[in-house]
Amino acid sequence: MSALQTTALVLCFVIPSIGWILLFRQVFRFTRLFRTGRPDPTRTGEPAKRTMTLVREFLGHTRMARLPWVSIAHWFTALSFLILFATLVNAFFQLIWPDFRLPIIGTFPPFEWLIELFTVGGFLGIILLIVVRQRQHPRSAAGEHGRRSRFFGSTWWQAYYVEFTILAVTICIALLRTLEAAHVERLHPGTNIALHFPLTGWMRGMWGGLSIAGIEEAIYLVAMIKILVSFAWMITIALQPTMGVAWHRFLAFFNIWFKRNADGRTALGALQPMTIDGKPFSMDAVEEMDEDTSMGVAKAEDLTWKQLLDVTTCTECGRCQSQCPAWNTDKPLSPKLLVMTLRDHAHAKAPWMMASEEARAGLPEHTKALAHMPLVGQTGYDMEHPLTAYDALGPEAVIDEDVLWSCTTCGACVEQCPVDIEHVDTIVDLRRNQVLIESAFPAELGGLFKNMESKGNPWGMAQRARLDWAKDLPFPVKQVGKDVEDLSEVDYLFWVGCAGAFEDRAKKTSRAVAELLDTAGVSFAVLGDGETCTGDSARRAGNEVLFQMLAQQNVEQLNEAGATKIVVTCAHCFNTIKNEYPQVGGSYEVLHHTQLLNRLVREKRLVPVSRPAEDARKSTAKNPASSAPVVTYHDPCYLGRHNNVYAPPRELIGSLPGVELREMPRHGETSFCCGAGGARMWMEEKLGTRINMNRTEEALATGADRIAVGCPFCRVMLSDGVTAKEADDASVEQVEVVDVAQMLLAAVRRGDEVEAPVEEAAAAAAAATATGAAGVAADGAPEGIKPDRDDRQTQTSPAQEAAAEEQEEVRVPDENDQEAVHAANVADPWDDDDTATAAPAPAAQTQPDPEPTPAPTTNDVADPWDDDDTATAAPAPAAQTQPDPEPTPAPTTNDVADPWD
Ligand code: SF4
Ligand code: SF4
Repeated sequence: MSALQTTALVLCFVIPSIGWILLFRQVFRFTRLFRTGRPDPTRTGEPAKRTMTLVREFLGHTRMARLPWVSIAHWFTALSFLILFATLVNAFFQLIWPDFRLPIIGTFPPFEWLIELFTVGGFLGIILLIVVRQRQHPRSAAGEHGRRSRFFGSTWWQAYYVEFTILAVTICIALLRTLEAAHVERLHPGTNIALHFPLTGWMRGMWGGLSIAGIEEAIYLVAMIKILVSFAWMITIALQPTMGVAWHRFLAFFNIWFKRNADGRTALGALQPMTIDGKPFSMDAVEEMDEDTSMGVAKAEDLTWKQLLDVTTCTECGRCQSQCPAWNTDKPLSPKLLVMTLRDHAHAKAPWMMASEEARAGLPEHTKALAHMPLVGQTGYDMEHPLTAYDALGPEAVIDEDVLWSCTTCGACVEQCPVDIEHVDTIVDLRRNQVLIESAFPAELGGLFKNMESKGNPWGMAQRARLDWAKDLPFPVKQVGKDVEDLSEVDYLFWVGCAGAFEDRAKKTSRAVAELLDTAGVSFAVLGDGETCTGDSARRAGNEVLFQMLAQQNVEQLNEAGATKIVVTCAHCFNTIKNEYPQVGGSYEVLHHTQLLNRLVREKRLVPVSRPAEDARKSTAKNPASSAPVVTYHDPCYLGRHNNVYAPPRELIGSLPGVELREMPRHGETSFCCGAGGARMWMEEKLGTRINMNRTEEALATGADRIAVGCPFCRVMLSDGVTAKEADDASVEQVEVVDVAQMLLAAVRRGDEVEAPVEEAAAAAAAATATGAAGVAADGAPEGIKPDRDDRQTQTSPAQEAAAEEQEEVRVPDENDQEAVHAANVADPWDDDDTATAAPAPAAQTQPDPEPTPAPTTNDVADPWDDDDTATAAPAPAAQTQPDPEPTPAPTTNDVADPWD
């Protein structure tokens, strides 16, 4: 036995032994730490489905598919970690017998091909990932200190160390294979080298100068290096429980298996209910609570075991950070930094969390200092250096409160995360504690909570005004309890929502949808003043008690009315009723209006008609219809990412003849938030640049004349953005933010207007029939004159379109003539006058209204929290009324389309 072989045997016995011991110790510690977390009994149901999800996500790398090259490279490195373990075992035996092969499979060609494929694949994969990391390094990225890099704030030495290990191991395996090939060739000259060493055998010539003994010495050396590199890595990660870039190789399997939805859906849509002692909170539980009852997450030990597992699994890849609207507008919130800091804090505090009461007294002072450290507080961080808003060791708090309140709950982080970390639930749990226990929340939310609690809507409007939106419609809108006894008499309950009832622009959507449903012959009824806010904003702001109160009230009302099928126009109402009301006993079939309208268009119950080329009129208070030649569509987060409704609004726009849909660079799953979710609609946006301006600029850059939305919150935010841009660019004046329903209504109305003169002719012809005229169709229309409703698109002549346009010109007041319109408004039941004095004043109403606005009365300037029904005004987020401190340029396709990102 040579000195080298002896040394190799000793080292490769000692180091791996230490490695295994430390690794098992760390796994045991993980288990103990996770067991200190709060219970979460929802994570183990449907084990077969969970296993299938795990297999699919791992083998298919489905959660990384959006970065295809990165996904392929990672697929090879991830699988090589498992498959090449066989070579590690082989290497140990090669220290004794250099020609050793694993029994049975060792010289089985398919096994050898597999090993070679994943050796080369793993090598190329890690090279690719190293290149990507360097290309994306903060030193060459945009933003302050390169914060646009998704790796900004990641732990670099850990990433480099992991990359080095994989690179070194794959090189060692490749070298061993070439040595084995050379060795075999010498010992067994007739061996088919190409068959057994298809990818490495051709390099065996480099050992041509070595004797057999020399080759064997080389095998000892390379096998030893391979083993030592592997176990040095094992020792390193065993001593570094926060090394997520390495630990995710093990923990990701568990994190995916225990994910919220066994079928693989991301943890979006419904928020998890707040739990008290592991049981879902309900209003009944309030009476049993005492002052010691903890709600939400205040400290690390309040996290559930799954949340502890979540944060420990983070790979620091930064995909979440790169998509986060808060981070991209220079706010301190980064979901990656949040998760990393919670992880670092929990593991620093782990000895205290795992120790018994008696043992805690004997812990080191630096550990005991963490015992009562709050997770959220004022850290006095430096805005220029967002990393200072996070400190796992405090001393004031682990993360700054600005980090927490910057979140729009858009879900981009959850949607992006390759290891299924559930950021939004954790963020809301932290908010719950701040609101319900600490009473520490942005001041604006106080008014919101008060309005929702006392008035049942965020605007603080009187319930009796809930049906004002329907005044003067040319058909009656039925109300449950008045016009219909219950909902069995109609097809749908139309859930109007607070915005749809009170917010001027959203009212146009309500009217458009009602008119379209009526046109299509779909019967519906509304709850009117029986409807209350769904509680979406309250829940996402952390006020679970208020949400439960509103939700139970609504569910009782809905169940009493016999609701089964509900159509809504607000993405937030849609998500809450569909996904969250089942948690409080209300399960219904809920459709977003774009889904229902799309269905009606497909069934040809609504027939859009071609738009005259020059027609690009904005909507007005009286005419909620609007259309234009080029349209871009903004995906509302709570419709798209949270509920996967991407196609219906697009199909609907696609069904509008003469309208081109022009997508923004960030659309679909990678859409960018408007800034209103997570109750941010009601908060000032003081930090960084404005999210709505960022999105508006992206929308305007498409050159579209209409920014179509499917949510009243998005509409307010983007309308504000367009209004702000108008000051800089006159051409923006022609742009309007509209709901998809409004465009459809414009197109369907054109059909009616085309039809009207034709029907008059038909009536004349019918009269002629009565006097004996021939050639009249059975339905009273002269044959060959009345267009088939389904064929209008092709039968509409330019002359008819011109006639239709003319008619519309007559019917629709000139919106530029503000005085005339205002005069008309005064006497018109559609006039906002009755509510204008009580006008809600969310962001939008504080800016120049594109529509004529009645002169303000004293009521307009009354205290927004005044309980006077006629004077109530909603919180007016200053962020939406202040100029953008530094508008962020709209992203280019380069910002979003790089598969290497
Ligand atoms: S939910 Fe949206 S805003 Fe909140 S952390 Fe995730 S990406 Fe950022
Ligand atoms: S996407 Fe997931 S794994 Fe990647 S940094 Fe964010 S939380 Fe961590």
